[in-house]
Amino acid sequence: MANGVKAIRGMNDILPNESYLWIHFEQIIHQWLAAYGYRNIRTPIVEQTDLFIRSIGEVTDIVEKEMYTFIDHLNNDSLTLRPEGTASCARAVIEHNLLYAGPQRLYYAGPMFRHERPQKGRYRQFHQVGVEALGYAGPDIDTELIVMCSRLWDLLGIPDLRLEISTLGNAESRALHRTRLIKYFEQHHDKLDEDSLRRLHTNPLRILDSKNPEMQQIIEGAPKLIDDLDEESYLHFESLQHMLREQGINFEINLRLVRGLDYYNRTVFEWITDKLGAQGTVCAGGRYDGLIEQVGGKSASACGFAMGIERLLALVQESDKKITQPVPDIYIVHEGGQVMNYAWKCAEFLRDEGLNVILHCGGGSFKSQMKKADATGAYYALIIGNDEVKAQEVTLKPLREPIEQASVKLSAVIQLIKK
Ligand code: ATP
Ligand code: MG
Repeated sequence: MANGVKAIRGMNDILPNESYLWIHFEQIIHQWLAAYGYRNIRTPIVEQTDLFIRSIGEVTDIVEKEMYTFIDHLNNDSLTLRPEGTASCARAVIEHNLLYAGPQRLYYAGPMFRHERPQKGRYRQFHQVGVEALGYAGPDIDTELIVMCSRLWDLLGIPDLRLEISTLGNAESRALHRTRLIKYFEQHHDKLDEDSLRRLHTNPLRILDSKNPEMQQIIEGAPKLIDDLDEESYLHFESLQHMLREQGINFEINLRLVRGLDYYNRTVFEWITDKLGAQGTVCAGGRYDGLIEQVGGKSASACGFAMGIERLLALVQESDKKITQPVPDIYIVHEGGQVMNYAWKCAEFLRDEGLNVILHCGGGSFKSQMKKADATGAYYALIIGNDEVKAQEVTLKPLREPIEQASVKLSAVIQLIKK
């Protein structure tokens, strides 16, 4: 396409030879969530920029450098393509007063946008399924969310995902931790990279999340939040671990687990694979008890997680559970002209019976039509010529087995196929 317009870098087309996997995944997702009583919520892809700044936090990778923000020149509003779903979900719950009716188990799925360097497992438009339990103080709901994930990995046939959990404590313990961190990093001022220096006094917790290998040693030695943890958060974390053990969920405690968004407190967790290189986190979440108040609602506890669909599908494709592209049951080959009307009626009849049928369009010889039938992967060809119309029959030819074709009544086709 020399002068043609191309898609935006890092934003992918999902073509038919891949989209069936997405459909398969989405069907599993909706059933899986219904099984736990979670209900779907759909919010706009664009929000006021302020929503994300207030929720995700000003000094985070997402807000500092990854957001697609633009001015709507028709009214000068600053708008942003959503980089994640929790903020929008919280906004909608507040705006429509959903918590008035009691706690809510909600989920959403759809595209998110972050201006990152595109690479395998990292795109500028990517897709998430997010699950949010709002109005629950936990840790029972924290456990439920993790148990749900575990079931999903089974449903998808993804083995060997590692669960890491940690706790970030409450606002006071984080404030105390923050002071200790600043003191520690100030002592190692000369070893901090540019990003970390900038964040030292604004958001020192973010330094712990640095991906710079040269920073890892000094991060390793930094004070740990667990030592500053408040009593209630400690009990919450203990209780979560107890419940997870009771449910037979394996986990590791990773006290260095820092999430890329500021709104988390207490429980945080990630599901990680070793099979996707650096992009190993397929699902991440935690508690965000302060967020709803922060974006203008009445204070309410909440917990949730989001998973990256591209990364999960990459794992599904690698797993043993082979998911094959669906093929039509029947491809109807016909003589055209007057015969077409009969062929058309046959096709609709078979569709009424629940079969997937392609009716050949575009003319051509029987031979070329048979080639097309074969190429679709259809199980049967249904051949209709003048003789068939006269006898009010059809000729059924199995395409995938060495069985002779047979002329039968249309109603008999159903029995033959289902057999
Ligand atoms: P990472 O550390 O990989 O950048 P993150 O902490 O920014 O992830 P979250 O905001 O927690 O990610 O999003 C939840 C999940 O969404 C991630 O675990 C990942 O599976 C997926 N995800 C996040 N960013 C991208 C992206 N740019 N492309 C594809 N998937 C993504
Ligand atoms: Mg990121």
